[in-house]
Amino acid sequence: MKWSLKLGTIGGTEVRVHVTFALLLIWIWVMHYRIGGPTAAYEGVAFIICVFLCVVLHEFGHIAAARHFGIQTPDITLLPIGGIARLERNPTRPLEELVIAIAGPFVNVVIAGLIVMVLGSALGWEKLLAPQDPRVDFLARLAGVNIFLVVFNMIPAFPMDGGRVLRAVLAWHLPWASATSIAARIGQSIALAMGVFGVFFNPLLILIAIFVYFAAETEAQGSDLQAISDDTSIRDVMITEFATLGLQARVGEAVELLLATSQSEFPVVDEAGRFEGLMTREGIVRAMKERGAGASVSDVMRRDIPALDEKSPIDMSLKLMQKAQASAIPIVDSSERVVGLINYETIGELMMLHYADESFKPRGRHHHAH
Ligand SMILES: [Zn+2]
Repeated sequence: MKWSLKLGTIGGTEVRVHVTFALLLIWIWVMHYRIGGPTAAYEGVAFIICVFLCVVLHEFGHIAAARHFGIQTPDITLLPIGGIARLERNPTRPLEELVIAIAGPFVNVVIAGLIVMVLGSALGWEKLLAPQDPRVDFLARLAGVNIFLVVFNMIPAFPMDGGRVLRAVLAWHLPWASATSIAARIGQSIALAMGVFGVFFNPLLILIAIFVYFAAETEAQGSDLQAISDDTSIRDVMITEFATLGLQARVGEAVELLLATSQSEFPVVDEAGRFEGLMTREGIVRAMKERGAGASVSDVMRRDIPALDEKSPIDMSLKLMQKAQASAIPIVDSSERVVGLINYETIGELMMLHYADESFKPRGRHHHAH
């Protein structure tokens, strides 16, 4: 996700913080300072760390549930409204999605429940509703934050967990793509209502509404790509006519290829045609400027780009490109030879064709069966 900072890695999952989360923390700190002075401000920092931990634990609830179904989580991003866990693949059955979605809020229910048990009758409802006020008991406010996290995340709109619960329930009777599209529309209607409500009561809600609206859009598009991917493999849509560079090639040759073709990414391959690295247009231009035409391509190519098997689903290629921050990835056959390329243009064209004709499918897998 854009605008996020990496904090560290826990159990194979990268923990990232979105800048808007930092803004929320600053807001709590400022409110503490204004109401209670510097002492309260420091207590505010302690409170912020606890809130932060509750959000992380919420995400690890999702991660544990996903792992139970054999799905790893490469990273989580913490946002003011909770967090977003990016699963390595989407759950395929409604029950899986339902359990994974509920596991996060369930953690906050447990935390709030434990605090309520500890505080007992000392706890008043009004205390739960003022997380920014240092005069209210620390634990009571923490319970309030956890209850807020549960209520907010169960709003049936993407990217909140409630949106996923809604889709899982719809997907019990509908195809996955239709369930996502209906859930996304419901989420967008809620976002619009939230925005209107925000105009009158709380400007912060308008920001959240805008965020929710676009998240629903992204989710719907992602599921469209998944619908296209369902019975087609990369082999059916990849670019099959492309130029490659040998390991001995010089940057000058890469420049010539760049000018002579309409390609902007060139796989670098060994004698057997196996993938060694990728030269992108930006990489070629930079190498030309910094190292000159005589430099070896193998010294300046990107080696951190993964190759994808030709039998993988199409949406996997988009995920890999985003993860590697690459404009293209090479597709290889079973003996690791580069047989194709996928870039953002390929994905974009697939989406356009899908929108032009909902029933559009690239040449399906059945052509290749047997
Ligand atoms: Zn969640």
